[in-house]
Amino acid sequence: MKTLIVALGGNALIKPGERGTPEQMINNLQAPIKQIAKLSEEYNIVITHGNGPQVGALLLQQEATEEITRMPLQILVAETQGQIGFLIESTLDEELMRLGTDMEKYFLTVLTYVEVNPNDRAFIRPTKPIGPSYKRKRPGYVKTSKGWRRVVASPKPLRIVQAREIKKLIQENFIIISCGGGGIPVIKDGTHFQGVEAVIDKDLASAKLGEQINADILLIATDVEKVALNYGRVDYKYLDKVTTTDAKAYLRQGHFPPGSMGPKIQAVINFLESGGEQAIITSIEKIKEALEGKAGTHFSIEEN
Ligand code: ADP
Ligand code: MG
Repeated sequence: MKTLIVALGGNALIKPGERGTPEQMINNLQAPIKQIAKLSEEYNIVITHGNGPQVGALLLQQEATEEITRMPLQILVAETQGQIGFLIESTLDEELMRLGTDMEKYFLTVLTYVEVNPNDRAFIRPTKPIGPSYKRKRPGYVKTSKGWRRVVASPKPLRIVQAREIKKLIQENFIIISCGGGGIPVIKDGTHFQGVEAVIDKDLASAKLGEQINADILLIATDVEKVALNYGRVDYKYLDKVTTTDAKAYLRQGHFPPGSMGPKIQAVINFLESGGEQAIITSIEKIKEALEGKAGTHFSIEEN
């Protein structure tokens, strides 16, 4: 079976305007997880996911009182791998039981560390927005398209530390949930991994994992069905098929902004150039249709 990585975007858990209650998150997971459970009959599956709203919420929670010890960002990222992993697992479990494949399919959330370069320029220039957005200016926050938000360092993923374990588990028929929130950022200090305060981009981490486990397909599920040129303008144009050469040119021309579509396109390019066969960007609702070639923007190295 081919190995498919499905990267779930923020809105798989919290839709615009929602406060992110447990009920809302479980409800939102139904659509992607139903499709993924069905697809697990045809593909080896790795699910990765973001954590922007959740990790920002944990930061706010601990800042709300002096009575508890504050945890550094890397520990909060680890916490989000647990909370979101749990929500995905329980939704998946129900779906596999419904399909009657729960006895053949196993699943596991893997606490995943991702090595970064301590000299990555991102540590001097934080760019990744996390947590809620505010209409009014706040100290230390920056203005984003969604309002004032906290931004943190987002260094490039160099290596997924648990890639070997993940690969082994896939061969044993496990559906794996990993690289949650882009992974727990660590730097290697001799034989020791040291956590660092950052949030890695989950799409770039997913591409890196794909490279290390030799995945065949990377599917990035977000809130738009297709990638567009001139997005948000009257002369926008949806893309069905894109080569990596064209994707690079469009990226240079500024069609894909750094905080949103930019890293997804870069992840797709990285994945295909490191040996991945196919990459797709589509909406959470159209994961299955996109794999059948009936939805989404499809990327490949060669013109086809
Ligand atoms: P996720 O939480 O899934 O990572 P993001 O908000 O980071 O989602 O990225 C998806 C968003 O990118 C879309 O909602 C859309 O508003 C924006 N976007 C920016 N440029 C483009 C483009 N060229 N084509 C399609 N969507 C784009
Ligand atoms: Mg994003």
